[in-house]
Amino acid sequence: MKICVLGLDCAAPEIAFGDDRLRNFRRLMQRGTWGLLESVIPPITVPAWMCLSTSQDPGSLGVYGFRNRINYTYSGLGIVDSSSIQAPAVWDYLGQKGKCSIVVGVPPGFPPRNINGISIGCFLTPDAATNEFTHPAEIKKEITALVGEYPVDVPGFRTDNKDWLKQQIFEMSRKQWKVVRYLLTEKVWDYFHFVDIGLDRVHHGFWDCYDKRHIHYQRGNHYENVIPEYYLWLDEQIGRVLEILDKDTVILVVSDHGAQRLDGGFAVNEWLIKEGLLVLNEFPKEPTPFAKLKVNWAKTKVWSEGGYYARVFFNVEDREPRGIIPASQYESFRDEMKQRLGALTDDKGRPLNSLVFKPQEIYRNVRNVAPDLIVHFGRLYWRSIGSVGHGRFHLKENDTGPDACNHAQFGMFILAAPNSPLHGEHTGAHLLDVMPTLLDLAGYEIPGTMQGRSLVAAAK
Ligand SMILES: [Zn+2]
Repeated sequence: MKICVLGLDCAAPEIAFGDDRLRNFRRLMQRGTWGLLESVIPPITVPAWMCLSTSQDPGSLGVYGFRNRINYTYSGLGIVDSSSIQAPAVWDYLGQKGKCSIVVGVPPGFPPRNINGISIGCFLTPDAATNEFTHPAEIKKEITALVGEYPVDVPGFRTDNKDWLKQQIFEMSRKQWKVVRYLLTEKVWDYFHFVDIGLDRVHHGFWDCYDKRHIHYQRGNHYENVIPEYYLWLDEQIGRVLEILDKDTVILVVSDHGAQRLDGGFAVNEWLIKEGLLVLNEFPKEPTPFAKLKVNWAKTKVWSEGGYYARVFFNVEDREPRGIIPASQYESFRDEMKQRLGALTDDKGRPLNSLVFKPQEIYRNVRNVAPDLIVHFGRLYWRSIGSVGHGRFHLKENDTGPDACNHAQFGMFILAAPNSPLHGEHTGAHLLDVMPTLLDLAGYEIPGTMQGRSLVAAAK
């Protein structure tokens, strides 16, 4: 049986399941099963889509976010690309069986993956006009003939120019879904996987206009309906795809994580400085990115990277070039830091209820250079601010440009297949369960490398 995965990056279950106007979402829900889908830690686009496609956790992939330490020096972080993922994905497994896949915009998807079938680069493609972003290369010509220049993302989406942003997102997504319909209809495939990144951009751009509990929400604002409008439009797109698919297809609508409001940012490095754990030769006069700070490494024990979550690193003897934490004290120091980070409070002195993780406790394997601790400040209602020079710990604005939401640990899924025994609401599904479930329904064996379980097998 064929498998068609329509990925909606960042789709929030409360909207996808809560808006009665989404007729095609409803139709699929009635035909199959649906529910919350617990994402990986951290619930971030990279690595989440590849965790889904390989059924392996971030530690096993050795990819902990968009940017990762490439070694134990202080040289900063490297950006992930498609070659960073070495584990076999579903299209590799199916390719070995002579089956064809079409993979569109599944991050990290640049350089385009060499698969048995067609792959189209994701939003990490530097410039679709000048780069090879398709495999095979000649597909690019067909795409250009169909939609003109193919947009992989909205460059500069962290902007206050909301009218422009809305128009750009819709224009991008219109072209992408047109390409999706073309590939579904005109090309051979056994496995199809598209990721709509427009929804993620809509959330990050407009969540504060939509969510009444957001600190910046203003009743009756001009952009209040942009998010529901985009879902309605997506519903139409899904309806058009459903018309194309034949009955013998496993259909999955799925998100890599959800979305939630941002209450603020926690300037983690400012706090580490105050605690004497991070020492600078010179305190900056204005907000300065961590990479540009003059760090006194001989006196520094801990530093952190910012982003939707904090990656906290320790300066360990014989591991980092100028490490000062004795290896023998590493675990006790890590326990102490876990406790201290977990005990931080918000701007009003209330507990942030942050979650602090040791990679070794949450992953089956810990490959490459993992953070020593991963922190979800305020359960991701707060983001991590890596820059220094704010003069306070709690900020209301993001340091890398306007951003209206953070990611939520739970995304959503709707799964329909003619032979599926699963109906109605399903609880307890995890992102890593997706691929074993799809393979099971489509009649394939589940590779032993996959870490999730088939929801179908579990239901029997
Ligand atoms: Zn995402």
